[in-house]
Amino acid sequence: MTPKPAPFLLWILLLSATPRIGFGQDMERARATIATLCSPAFHGRGYVNGGDKIAARYLEGQFRQMGLRAFDSLYIQTFPLDINTFPGKVSLKIDKQKLPPGEAYIVNPVSQGGRGKGKIIHLDTLIFTREEARQRFMRSDLRRNVMVYEARHYANLTELPSEYLNKMHEAKALIELQKEKLTMSLSPAQISHPAFQMVKKDLDPAAKTATFRVDAKLIKGYPSQNVIGYVPGKKFPDQFVVISAHYDHLGRMGKEAAYFPGANDNASGTTLMLELARHYVLPENQPDYSIAFMAFGAEEAGLIGSRYYTEHPLFPLSQIKFMINLDLLGTGEEGMMVVNGTRLPEEFDRLTALNNQHNYLPKLQKRDNAPNSDHYFFTRKGVKAVFIYLMGGPKFYHDIYDRPETLPLTKFSEAFGLIRDFVSGME
Ligand SMILES: [Zn+2]
Repeated sequence: MTPKPAPFLLWILLLSATPRIGFGQDMERARATIATLCSPAFHGRGYVNGGDKIAARYLEGQFRQMGLRAFDSLYIQTFPLDINTFPGKVSLKIDKQKLPPGEAYIVNPVSQGGRGKGKIIHLDTLIFTREEARQRFMRSDLRRNVMVYEARHYANLTELPSEYLNKMHEAKALIELQKEKLTMSLSPAQISHPAFQMVKKDLDPAAKTATFRVDAKLIKGYPSQNVIGYVPGKKFPDQFVVISAHYDHLGRMGKEAAYFPGANDNASGTTLMLELARHYVLPENQPDYSIAFMAFGAEEAGLIGSRYYTEHPLFPLSQIKFMINLDLLGTGEEGMMVVNGTRLPEEFDRLTALNNQHNYLPKLQKRDNAPNSDHYFFTRKGVKAVFIYLMGGPKFYHDIYDRPETLPLTKFSEAFGLIRDFVSGME
């Protein structure tokens, strides 16, 4: 028996029971989940220090704790991938200045390991217009040089006969200059020497030497994983709504040098998926259709986990009634984008109607399919799928600045409300 609380306690209870926004979703818990996924102990949810496995185990624990069911008694589905990693030391010095990793440079994802020092030379762009320059370039000996070139010129170089590109790759190391910002990605292969990227304005055009070190390891057949659970439907248990989000990110660049927290991409979507799972797993919210929650791995490596799933589904793909893939859910100032909305007008209209009715997001936009997230191979296999992301807010993307502290989560609760209403209202 609970004693009757004193009057002021009643008032406190009343206050704390008043939801801050009120869509049945806990923002404090969401923030804590995002912070956990982005913490250094998760190593950027990539392939240095087994960050992907730490994240997968955490999600598995969440699924188990909240009581999601598992297919074949396992939440984990393992798949192999080839991945180039930077598990050791990473450094770059221009003349006498050691550059801060992640801030002033990144390792090119295709970089091989190596260390050394070289004289900086800049790609002579006259080779694109002048025969003499081309001949001079082909006669030059680049083996002691660190070659600097602008990213857009690499594309021009690929249009020349292949010996020009081969020539450039004779250099001791390469530094590619980006126009605006550094954007990290992942590669399944290596080139034959170390390679870096810098922003053009950060490299003194008069710089003379570069001293570099990269420890790189190309891993073939690295076992990574998807984490999958479900809530059985009460009316149509054999028909599934899939709610997915990739939990992986870009991992670490060097054991200690820098890591990519991936708050918006995609701790935000993973957390929204967990929040929806927590909602639907409650007996009073049991959905009519079964809902499968799929946390895909290796999205950043080229949609590897979701592609593997479509080739090794845990129940027939034809039993997926609809799929909602969540990736980049941390903002929302400028509304929501529905990828594939153009192909699924009925569903897009229903989303729009619900959004107007409840005033969740400032606007809903649609676009056609693109291979930019985990819905893609499902769409290709004929599954009705949308990929939802939020727009506006900070523009940090695939860099060290995509952190929980800078993530506004402006329309996180609203996105939760809209998706919940959409799924619960499915006929
Ligand atoms: Zn990404």
